[in-house]
Amino acid sequence: MSRIPIVAGNWKMYKTPSEAVDFVTSLIPELSPLDGVERVICPPFLAIPGVSAKVAGSPIQVGAQNVHWQKEGAFTSDIAPAMLKGLVEYVIVGHSEVRQYHGDTDERVNMRAKAALEAGLKPIIAVGESVDTYRAGQTETFVGAQIRACFAGIPQEAVSSIVVAYEPLWAIGTGLTPTAEEANQIIKNAIRNVLASLYGEDAAQQVRIQYGGSVKPDNMKGFMSQPDIDGALVGGASLKVNDFVTLVKLAREAKGLA
Ligand code: PEP
Repeated sequence: MSRIPIVAGNWKMYKTPSEAVDFVTSLIPELSPLDGVERVICPPFLAIPGVSAKVAGSPIQVGAQNVHWQKEGAFTSDIAPAMLKGLVEYVIVGHSEVRQYHGDTDERVNMRAKAALEAGLKPIIAVGESVDTYRAGQTETFVGAQIRACFAGIPQEAVSSIVVAYEPLWAIGTGLTPTAEEANQIIKNAIRNVLASLYGEDAAQQVRIQYGGSVKPDNMKGFMSQPDIDGALVGGASLKVNDFVTLVKLAREAKGLA
């Protein structure tokens, strides 16, 4: 089963709306020829309309960094799925910074993912363990449980439009990473095999699973050469045109597309 690789840049709380448009203006000609890989950027909410208008007609896709589970209501500061519709294709849910600073739980991540799907948006569901869980050798048990909770009630037919991002918390923004083999092992055992137990082997083989956490040009090839790693969710290195373009090039090479 060949899965289309997907490299997504999470800009976090960086770039004003005008900086974001300037940045994608430089990115479009560099990224456009690199086909065979989905190229997604996830700007802060306020920059989304400008970025979305700028990339229209190019192969670059846009994602949001979060979404609320309600259709509308008294939820000050939140953004509903319908508000993103037509502007983004993807939405990250369960990013560790949202879990850490805004108290997101697997239950909420599950509600966000379901609401996104209902609105026709594709969720990128982020999971990953703390350093204590990693040191205790409990990563697979923990991540497997996250997958079960985050996919609760998600119907079979929706599964292939979901992307999972495995992001060990201790690797995000730290320069530390698991080895590529270790990341592949966790992705295979705790994510793909758990999805197979929930939805069957065929469905599990269709789900794209990214690695995320201090992905840089010097380690990208190793991760992308792994059979169960289908792309990357990239923070810091997505904020530099050259680095992000290099990451997409390396994904293409590693997957035999260049
Ligand atoms: C992220 O924000 O999802 C991330 C993985 O960040 P970084 O690449 O900077 O570690």
